[in-house]
Amino acid sequence: MLYLSTRGDSTPRRFCDILLEGLAPDGGLYLPEHYPQIDAARLAALRRTHAEGGYAALAFEILSLYIDDIPADDLRAICQRTYTAEVFGTPEIVPLKPLHQGFYLEALSNGPTLAFKDMAMQLLGQLFEYELGRRGQTLNILGATSGDTGSAAEYAMRGKRGIRVFMLSPHGRMSAFQQAQMFSLQDPNIHNIAIEGVFDDCQDIVKAVSNDLEFKRKYRIGTVNSINWARLLAQVVYYFAGYFQATRSDGERVSFTVPSGNFGNVCAGHVARQMGLPIAQLVVATNENDVLDEFFRTGVYRVRGAADTHETSSPSMDISKASNFERFVFDLLGRDGARCKALFDDALRQHGQFDLSGDARFADAAARYGFVSGRSTHADRLATIRRVFAEHGVTIDTHTADGVKVAREHLQPGVPMIVLETALPIKFAATIEEALGQPPARPARFDGIEQLPRRVRVLPADAAQVKALITAECE
Ligand SMILES: *Cc1c(COP(=O)(O)O)cnc(C)c1O
Repeated sequence: MLYLSTRGDSTPRRFCDILLEGLAPDGGLYLPEHYPQIDAARLAALRRTHAEGGYAALAFEILSLYIDDIPADDLRAICQRTYTAEVFGTPEIVPLKPLHQGFYLEALSNGPTLAFKDMAMQLLGQLFEYELGRRGQTLNILGATSGDTGSAAEYAMRGKRGIRVFMLSPHGRMSAFQQAQMFSLQDPNIHNIAIEGVFDDCQDIVKAVSNDLEFKRKYRIGTVNSINWARLLAQVVYYFAGYFQATRSDGERVSFTVPSGNFGNVCAGHVARQMGLPIAQLVVATNENDVLDEFFRTGVYRVRGAADTHETSSPSMDISKASNFERFVFDLLGRDGARCKALFDDALRQHGQFDLSGDARFADAAARYGFVSGRSTHADRLATIRRVFAEHGVTIDTHTADGVKVAREHLQPGVPMIVLETALPIKFAATIEEALGQPPARPARFDGIEQLPRRVRVLPADAAQVKALITAECE
């Protein structure tokens, strides 16, 4: 399998060539040159694999379709090491929880940091360690986080040979639980850096360091952001696992609703659907930051400025632009790299938006790709958390609540609906208390986590000081 860029650069690359890279050199995102097709016989075989070998065996089969430069036995072992009941809490890894007939939550958030990002990041940690070991190289991962991504990266990379993580977060601005999760890690290869500033300051430092190409090369600076193809690929697997759990036979269709921010999670659903998984609808649920809902309703993709980006009670969906969205637009426009470049490079940079409402292919998007959308607000979130608790005795987190709210608006008779549960409620306890008048249950392994010793350094918002710290650690 070869990979190409959404902006036209078609230098042939294989999976391990792009594994450790972020953007393609032309600024585009990597995609496989085609989507392997799963016909009915193959789907039945995958169902058996999942039933007999479990999630890890299914993951191996799906990943093998896209990765042909890691020997099969090694890839199988990587999948087996990654998707264990010990790390993900249950033997099913992503169990379906029925709320009522034909309406399910798919539990993606029982990994180490209680958010779905563990599903991909844990695999990425194993793949990075494997590939760096094979090349005899090291990597320094530099990232900025306001919560979920940073902790998922740290828990995936802790103790991994050849990898250090330098994670910047805004000093004093993460929830107490999130701080405790990250800062209690004692692994010598994990470096928490609290920056005296806001999240944007952290991101600016990452950009400044990465733009210093000499420093970047010398210290082998890399990232783990959501545009990484390997992360997206890992997420394709749980669409298959959800489908097999919700259906008995391969003629049936299901729909998925995905609480969305950067369009990574639901883009994996798009890939699964393009492969032939019988998905009726892919329902994109946004919060008040409704860039994506606006696009699917109107055809206008309009990036928001900082002043128009709201801080909400589903904070992991607070985005101003959706960094994986370009992948879908590339497919929508018949994989026309020049057109994609004109939209994402020229139009967005000059006008902050583009408009596909006049393009026949946009008019067809719902029919051809199954995409529909909806939006949810703080009041909707509270009402949905209350209603699900009252009717089913289940406490859901704020992001999942956005999903459940929007999913209900898109039910079709006879088509099961699967809402992806993207985090556990304990991560967003304040809003749960606001909704239910009581705090959510805390998994036993997190008891007393706030009292553990902390490993974090506080620095001013100054790229030079962050560079100095990286330099000192690497000597
Ligand atoms: C990251 C995240 C999302 C958004 O996922 P995207 O892939 O960015 O669309 C939703 N919910 C939670 C809890 C998250 O951490």
